[in-house]
Amino acid sequence: MYFELTEEQKLVRQVARDFAQTKLKPGVIERDENQLFPAEQVKMLGELGFLGIMVSPEYGGSGMDAISYVLIMEELSKIDASASVVVSVNNSLVCYGLEKYGTFQQKEKFLVPLAQGEQIGAFCLSEPDAGYDATALRTTAIDMGDHYLLNGVKNWITNGNSASVYLVIAQTDATRKHKGINALIVEKGMEGFTVGAKENKMGIRGSDTHSLHFSDVKVPKENRIGEDGSGFKFAMEVLEGGRIGIAAQALGIASGAYEVALNYTKQRRAFGKALADLQATQFKLADMATEIEAARLLCFKAAWLKDNGLPFAQASSMAKLYASEVAMRTTVEAVQLHGGYGFVKEYHVERLMRDAKITQIYEGTSEIQRIVISREVLK
Ligand SMILES: Cc1cc2nc3c(=O)[nH]c(=O)nc-3n(C[C@H](O)[C@H](O)[C@H](O)COP(=O)(O)OP(=O)(O)OC[C@H]3O[C@@H](n4cnc5c(N)ncnc54)[C@H](O)[C@@H]3O)c2cc1C
Repeated sequence: MYFELTEEQKLVRQVARDFAQTKLKPGVIERDENQLFPAEQVKMLGELGFLGIMVSPEYGGSGMDAISYVLIMEELSKIDASASVVVSVNNSLVCYGLEKYGTFQQKEKFLVPLAQGEQIGAFCLSEPDAGYDATALRTTAIDMGDHYLLNGVKNWITNGNSASVYLVIAQTDATRKHKGINALIVEKGMEGFTVGAKENKMGIRGSDTHSLHFSDVKVPKENRIGEDGSGFKFAMEVLEGGRIGIAAQALGIASGAYEVALNYTKQRRAFGKALADLQATQFKLADMATEIEAARLLCFKAAWLKDNGLPFAQASSMAKLYASEVAMRTTVEAVQLHGGYGFVKEYHVERLMRDAKITQIYEGTSEIQRIVISREVLK
């Protein structure tokens, strides 16, 4: 066991920390309030190589490991989870899937601009009547010989309007159930593809969440990822990796709220003492710090397994389940430690509390993580 980060990992963490403080923090309250997508900041994240963190340099990526990905996600999410979700989706759901399963032509055409941050991607599985149960998909991709005819609606799509490349999971042959599903690359501007209204959300309000509508969209056969019928396996596999990103996002939201609360309790006085001098406060801080460290170690473990080519489904689900629950507990407690000040926007913790909730829902709810984990432990 070796718990020390490498010099490169420490450096990249520092770069992400500085970026979050200097580029994400200014304006984060306004972006949240007005539901503004952090377009300028996302462009800068691309320039830093943070939109293709694990992609090989051959395809325009930064060639870093999954541990570095966790470090970057934690630092960005301490300040702005609406920006960090763009990093998570682009890296682990879109770039990872294309790099692992895409053809050389698909990588040249789509992966390179995505990894370099010239374009951003979206991953489209959820539908109005199908959440995690992908076998209930209603979106169809009918095989027409040289192309698929795509029809249906996707819901809750992160980067829904700002993306240029969409990986869409659709049913080609319902009689084959999950073996009849395909993953298709859909480009913005294809005839029959329209973006619905932006969702008005409780948290990650700067993130761009939309429904997508496909009406007789002709998707060329060369845009199918992997073999015919491999779309369900593809979706499940990229989500396994995606959970490391969301776990690290939850970790960052928790550690961001903890850091704000720690500073506040040292300054705020009650009954002639700093709040941090009260044992009730000290115990709360001790619990927060312990849970955050445990969540961080679960994230590192999942990332380490992935980096070493070992199975990581159980580890990434454990990391996401635990880190997202720590994010909720920590942010609620951080608001409480601020008293009335915690209830107003200027102190940041109320936003972090609202942002924390989504980490228990997307890329598989906490209940779905428990299903994955229990399936593994009962094997
Ligand atoms: C802001 C936001 C961004 C999102 N981004 C994306 C995206 O980019 N791409 C994408 O494809 N999707 C995205 N989603 C969708 C998200 O992944 C789904 O909302 C999530 O998977 C849950 O699906 P659902 O909403 O249909 O809930 P349902 O599946 O209807 O679940 C409702 C409740 O029932 C529980 N439940 C369901 N099945 C079981 C079971 N078998 N056992 C026990 N409990 C169960 C769930 O845990 C949940 O509590 C996003 C959602 C939001 C809100």
